[in-house]
Amino acid sequence: MKVITSVVEMQTRALALRKEGRVIGFVPTMGSLHRGHLSLVDLVKDKCDTRIVSIYVNPTQFGAGEDFEKYPRDLDRDLEMCRERGVDFVFTPPSAEVYEEDASTYVVEEKVGKGLCGNTRPTHFRGVATVCAKLFNLCQPHVVALGQKDAQQVVVLKRMIRDLHFPIELLVGPILREEDGLAMSSRNVYLEPRQREDALLIYKALLAAKSLVEEKGSRNVDRVKAEVQNTLRGGRYLRVNYVEIVDRDTMRPETEIVPGRSLLAVAAWVDQVRLIDNFSF
Ligand code: AMP
Repeated sequence: MKVITSVVEMQTRALALRKEGRVIGFVPTMGSLHRGHLSLVDLVKDKCDTRIVSIYVNPTQFGAGEDFEKYPRDLDRDLEMCRERGVDFVFTPPSAEVYEEDASTYVVEEKVGKGLCGNTRPTHFRGVATVCAKLFNLCQPHVVALGQKDAQQVVVLKRMIRDLHFPIELLVGPILREEDGLAMSSRNVYLEPRQREDALLIYKALLAAKSLVEEKGSRNVDRVKAEVQNTLRGGRYLRVNYVEIVDRDTMRPETEIVPGRSLLAVAAWVDQVRLIDNFSF
């Protein structure tokens, strides 16, 4: 496995790989890797012969007062995990090379990124789309894998790939969870045991919604959202950011639940830690 830290070297290498006829699979991450990230490396495996993982904590997707500075970073451990998983290149560029000091070009998706996380984090998806456009240009992937854990991010990037004609096939991997059901997240390391108990309520709330819809046959958006809110109210340190049921392709609110189309999305703070999770009906 080779570690590349230079933007120019990454792009030169990726272009050369393409020229040799290699098929490049790419997994963008912010590091502090867990099994969820590694499952995406596995996902591109069948389709590609060269796997690139980027590890870059992208400042432009964090808002003022968010956790950019204290976002967990552990490069040595991440590199070991990538090596074990059969990654060919890890790209971990310095910010000064990703963003020129007078950079003034951004990618803004104007529709599907507006609601849900876009309400609370109005510049978040601009940062995500911009850095992914850069990483796609630098790593030249044929195939990119993203996690359904960040359902709105998937839809924003799918839109960007389509609208800007990136020649990329997008694969979406399922949400990997801890044994007790908590969605894996780099931010879980922030949680102390009592906070973790509250975080688990998010998963319990999704299960309650699933049971209402799948076992009791409810299609009522308000009824299911109320059930979720009710479960989340049991958390002492938990504050709900949103509970929404949306069309999973457009992120527009649903008027009734349609199995195969509707997505329940939840965001909540447990003390200072913002967590998201979702369930597809
Ligand atoms: P991040 O490092 O948080 O930017 O995530 C990098 C990629 O890993 C994104 O495509 C995420 O959706 C994906 N990811 C994060 N958590 C999980 C998880 N629990 N299961 C599957 N994929 C995940």
